[in-house]
This record gives sequence, C-alpha cells and structure tokens, in this order.
Amino acid sequence: MERQIKVVKFGGSSLASAEQFKKVKDIITAEESRRFVVPSAPGKRFSGDTKVTDMLYECYNVSARGEDITDIFAGVRQRYNQIIEGLGLSLNLDEEYTHIEWAIAHHAGRDYAASRGEYLNGMILAAYLGYDFIDPAPFVRFADNGVYDAETSHNLLTAELAKHETGVIPGFYGSMPNGTIRTFSRGGSDITGSIVARAVNADIYENWTDVNGFLMADPRIVENPKGIEIITYRELRELSYMGAGVLHEDAIFPVRFAGIPVNIRNTNNPGDPGTMIVSSTDKYDTESIITGVAGKKGFSVVTIEKAMMNAERGFGRKVLEAIENEGMSFEHLPSGIDTMSVVLNSAELEHCRDRIVSRIKSLVEPDSVSIDDGLALVAVVGRGMVMAKGTAARVFNACGKAGVNIRMIDQGSSELNIIIGVVEEDFEKALSAIYHEFVK
Ligand code: ASP
Repeated sequence: MERQIKVVKFGGSSLASAEQFKKVKDIITAEESRRFVVPSAPGKRFSGDTKVTDMLYECYNVSARGEDITDIFAGVRQRYNQIIEGLGLSLNLDEEYTHIEWAIAHHAGRDYAASRGEYLNGMILAAYLGYDFIDPAPFVRFADNGVYDAETSHNLLTAELAKHETGVIPGFYGSMPNGTIRTFSRGGSDITGSIVARAVNADIYENWTDVNGFLMADPRIVENPKGIEIITYRELRELSYMGAGVLHEDAIFPVRFAGIPVNIRNTNNPGDPGTMIVSSTDKYDTESIITGVAGKKGFSVVTIEKAMMNAERGFGRKVLEAIENEGMSFEHLPSGIDTMSVVLNSAELEHCRDRIVSRIKSLVEPDSVSIDDGLALVAVVGRGMVMAKGTAARVFNACGKAGVNIRMIDQGSSELNIIIGVVEEDFEKALSAIYHEFVK
C-alpha cells in the first residue's frame, strides 16, 4: 500500500508561543504521514495581544512615513526569540532579523514586510521538527497583474516537493515574475496549505486552528450551536459567502478540484475529529436536514415594476447592465411576473444609487423603481433538503412563529439552499428560529 501523505497547516494561534509549538509538534509526530507543514505567523497569545503580521504591517507603515522602525521591530525579534528560547533551540536568527529590518527600512515593500512573519516562523518550526525548510517564493507564483498563477505554481511546487521527504513551507506568500514578494489576502496561509496539498497529491489537507471546526450557526447568535461533522464544498461556499469563515474562501479551490478532503481541526483539542469538507457524500443528518444556517446584514433591494415586463425582451439584461456599468455584481435576483428585484450590497451601492436608478429608468422605462435598504440575508443550507419535503414551509413557519416578516425568498434549483431576506432588526431572531426549527 502506498504511504499516506497529509499536509498540515497551522494557524497563527496554533503557533503563537513555545507552548503552542509543543502541541503542534505532538500533533505532527503522532502520525508519520504528516510530512508537509504550512505555518502561519505567530498570532495572538491572549485577547488584546498583537499578531506578528500586524506588527510587520506597522513596521512597513512607520518606515513608509520615513520614521525609524528600530523599536517596533525589536518587538518582532522578541516574539520569535521567546519562542526559540521556550523550545530550547540553539537556533540564532540574528542575521535574518538584521537583514529583514534593513530591507523594511529600505522600502522592500508592504507584502515583503508582512511575509516575513511566516518566513521566520517557518524557519523555527523546521528547526524544531527537523524538517527541511522550503521557502515558497520561487514556487508559489503570481502573474504580472498580481493574480495567483495556479498552473505554473503547481508544476514548480510539485517538482520541488518531490525532492523532500518532509518539509515546512511558510504560508501566505510567493513571488512576482520580477522576484518581489507578494502575499495572498489576509488569512492566506490557508491557500498555501491547499496548494501544497494539491502539489503533493495529499490524501488529506488538515487545517489546524483554534476551534473544533464549523458550527451550524454563529455562536454569537445561537447559544451553543452543534458542530458540523461533514460538509460538502458546495455547501461551504454557500455558508462561507454568507460570513461563516473559518477557512479562507480561496483555499477551497486547489483541493476541491484535486478531490482532496479538508479536515478542520483544533490544535487545543486534538481529540476532536473536527469538520470534514468533502466533494460529495451521501451522508447527511436525516434528523436535522440542514447543514447550517448563516447570514449577513447590509443589503439593499432595487425593485423595478412594469406591467407586461415578462413579455419584454431584454428587460432583465438591461437592468443588469445598469448595475454592471457601475462595476457592481448582484447578490440575488428574485423576480415576479411584473416585478424584478435585484439584491445588492448596500455599501457598494452607496456611491452610485442615483446613477443606477436613472439609468434603469432610461433603459427600460419602468412604471416604478425603488430602493429599500436595511435588508439582511439568511441562507439555510443543506444537501439533505433535496430529499426532505416541506423544508421551505418549515423555514417560513419558524419565521412566522418568531414574528419575523420575510421580505424576499430565493431558492436555487439545486435545492441546496433557501435564502430569505428579512429586515436587519429581525436578523438574529430569524436565524435563531430557523436553527431551532431544524436542530432539536
Ligand atoms: N499571517 C497572515 C495573516 O495574519 C496570514 C495567515 O495567518 O494566514 O493574515
């Protein structure tokens, strides 16, 4: 039988201190298959603490203002030296610190500054584990326009990692064609982990963080929500887009297409199996039907009315064109026979609402156009919904009983989700009522 390979990514809180490093080593050495490790930079040790990445962004800002970074960079050195000492390593990173401090002070760039958080942490972790240190800069590549170049990176990384039995590959950054460092967006070490998992064709991508995995609802709204054991990539997309982010959204793509499952695990509670993200499964919770419920405030609905709209060719296209012209994308498009509604992000709409209204008026000559703000969207997601009858009715009943008026409904034909729009004041009430309807 071929040997298993697991790629394990550890988030900032998992590597915030020497104590956390020790837990990480225990996890890695517990299974021989955990051969490739992707670390974040040291995160917060306690609430109110500062992440190293934020300290480095601050170094950059201070230096960009032409001020001296000696004091603030000393804080960065101290964070790493405390870890090195706490682990009893003989490693000395003084030369690295000196070089990095000099480079930041000489305008090496914002991304370069931020990336050193992962770089230095990777060096320490590699020394502590006895794994090879593999700088991702030559292999994780971005194109000239700054967009991640998936295929080039995949080929380069596959070839490089084949040379290593074990390795630590710092997360979050790669390089531009001219060699300068470029980072992913915040939280981007998740993406590196996913890319590495694809490159070594891992059996599983373990993403270790400080929670037991995904919860069925936001614990700030629903008290003690149940954890999600198994979720499909598609369900997660529906939920994460609505704001349930434990994993960086872009981290899904590399592994998803390679068919590699992702397992969210808790470094502080390694006995918990966490949440498994898979491409497809027949397994669903027949008792609860839904996998999760999540939502977001801050939407506006543009409603366009016109008698005989349904018979008018190109009507919808013209309305969407008015929106597209402002560089906006729409969230949902619930429509009736003589009305069409477009749900948009209120913050984006802010600067162009008058222009959109007048453009719609001139393009389609409607009977009326109006904009309502203060809408919240709630997505009820579950692969089990296809099989169960009456799910929508239960959602509506639950809202009705809670005194929540539903302003909008949108159910995709995939029957993977039902999205409802409610006034923002009812958001928490609606979410909680729906959760309790399905989870007893
Ligand atoms: N250290 C980076 C951040 O704080 C990337 C990461 O942790 O994934 O955003």
